[in-house]
Amino acid sequence: MLPQNPTSPQATPRLIVDAMLGRLAKWLRLAGYDTRYWRDGSDTDLIAAAQAEERLIITRDRQLAGRRGVRAVLVMAETLDEQIAEVRGQLSGNPQPFSRCPECNEPLESLSHSEARELVPPYVWHTQSEFHRCPGCGRVYWKGTHWPAVQARLETPTPLSPAAE
Ligand SMILES: [Zn+2]
Repeated sequence: MLPQNPTSPQATPRLIVDAMLGRLAKWLRLAGYDTRYWRDGSDTDLIAAAQAEERLIITRDRQLAGRRGVRAVLVMAETLDEQIAEVRGQLSGNPQPFSRCPECNEPLESLSHSEARELVPPYVWHTQSEFHRCPGCGRVYWKGTHWPAVQARLETPTPLSPAAE
């Protein structure tokens, strides 16, 4: 059994996600968690980075998660939906969804409707009122067609099916 709550009750933990879980890392950023994605490098370096930056490790590597002194959530689920539910069920805090760039983890900045005019397609500009920009990569985000699906996925924890082992 995994510990039910490896983090303190109120704080929203900062995360470091290991290389096998890239899609999950993007979703955790969408959910609002400060999430570093560990693309390459040794386990030793990953652990050192996690400790230096006080990040909780999210991994599928049982050995890594079981090392002495390592704070980690071991991901057992196979599908992305189940992984999201599994990890969120073990994280404390109440992060603000859609507050971070899913690509580079930077906190998003608000963009006024007039500022967005040159940056988004005309149809989008005419139909949307709220825009955000990533100061890191410059991507502009709005509550477009993906929004309802994203929100549903983030807000409704998918119950883990007993059959999906
Ligand atoms: Zn970005």
